[in-house]
Amino acid sequence: MRQVYLDHSATSAVDPRVIEVMMPFFDVRYGNASSLHTMGQEANRALEDARKTVAQKLHCTPEEIIFTSGGTESNNAAFKGAAFTRLRKGKKGHIITSTIEHDCVLNTCQWLESLGFSVTYLPVDNYGLVSPESLEDAITGDTILVSIMHANNEIGTIQDIRELAHIAHERDVLFHTDAVQSVTKVPVDVQEIGVDLLSVSSHKIHGPKGVGCLYVKKGTTVDPLLHGGGHEKGFRSGTENIPGIVGFSEALAIGEEERPREMPRIERLRDELIDGVSIIENSWLNGHPKRRLPINAHFCFRFIEGESLVLRLSGKGIYASTGSACSSKSLKPSHVLLAIGLPPEDAHSSLRLTLGRDNTEGDIQYTLKVLPEVVTDLRKISPFKASFQE
Ligand SMILES: *Cc1c(COP(=O)(O)O)cnc(C)c1O
Repeated sequence: MRQVYLDHSATSAVDPRVIEVMMPFFDVRYGNASSLHTMGQEANRALEDARKTVAQKLHCTPEEIIFTSGGTESNNAAFKGAAFTRLRKGKKGHIITSTIEHDCVLNTCQWLESLGFSVTYLPVDNYGLVSPESLEDAITGDTILVSIMHANNEIGTIQDIRELAHIAHERDVLFHTDAVQSVTKVPVDVQEIGVDLLSVSSHKIHGPKGVGCLYVKKGTTVDPLLHGGGHEKGFRSGTENIPGIVGFSEALAIGEEERPREMPRIERLRDELIDGVSIIENSWLNGHPKRRLPINAHFCFRFIEGESLVLRLSGKGIYASTGSACSSKSLKPSHVLLAIGLPPEDAHSSLRLTLGRDNTEGDIQYTLKVLPEVVTDLRKISPFKASFQE
């Protein structure tokens, strides 16, 4: 059976070119980057070369890159770091984020609320966009951090981060963005968008899992989450994951080099998918028609449960998801879909298809043959059948 992986926003295959550069660091060049001997220095050189590459791709200096264990840690480090810096001065503060952030942001915010911080969750419109005016109105004299994600992991909507960051900076407030989904898909230049903090994850860009980085603009103070041997200039202690970091930097370099020709190719396949699905009755595309990730297509199929759809598709070798990978095991409707104004029953009928480097024209043809059949089939046994036939 044909296998079609359309869940690249959950994770992606490690590119063979990435595996190749990682391999020697497991068993040949396995030194600890803090050791004084030759092997240690060799590891340290690989670490600093990787930092240079990542910095160059994100348009910052190597000193501004802190390697972490991935997107979750980078987001936690930005929020808790800013909060801890404030707590150390004996004060609490106010944080602004949006209602459609990843769970690792929302749950961090909730925990900070339990410590006495206050959090404003900005609403979004039907496309998933935060309004600049709502941000302007929400900032108070007590606001310490604004964080709005660059691209949403479920519906793919891309925010105007440059404009939002500008508003925060006019009021001298730090601005962070979760760029886990946008990096290598659309241009991400930390200077151009003018952010102070930015999170990246390696496994969403055809790199290994468990590694990523936080960009921390020079002069920005955020306290560390992890204390210890003082690695990463004291910001993130713990022996560096050299194979992972080397792989991450290679994945980012490949993704950036290939973006100009690869993303238009993927976008064409994605548009073909959207056009093909649009002829299925009682279905529609969620998110913004234009301001969206080139890899993302997100639909609702009325009268069907997203979970059943995902399982049926899986039986045909097509791997997709409903909602995001993290929340798809719970039966709660997606907070993102509720935030864009979908009623819970429609939010339950969603399907996310996210493309990547490995997808071909044949994959799309196969999906467009199988998906309408599965939808028709499921609707025949739908508990909403009666209302559907009316
Ligand atoms: C996947 C994801 C994360 C978490 O990244 P990990 O590296 O898996 O911890 C954070 N934010 C967004 C938008 C994501 O899609």
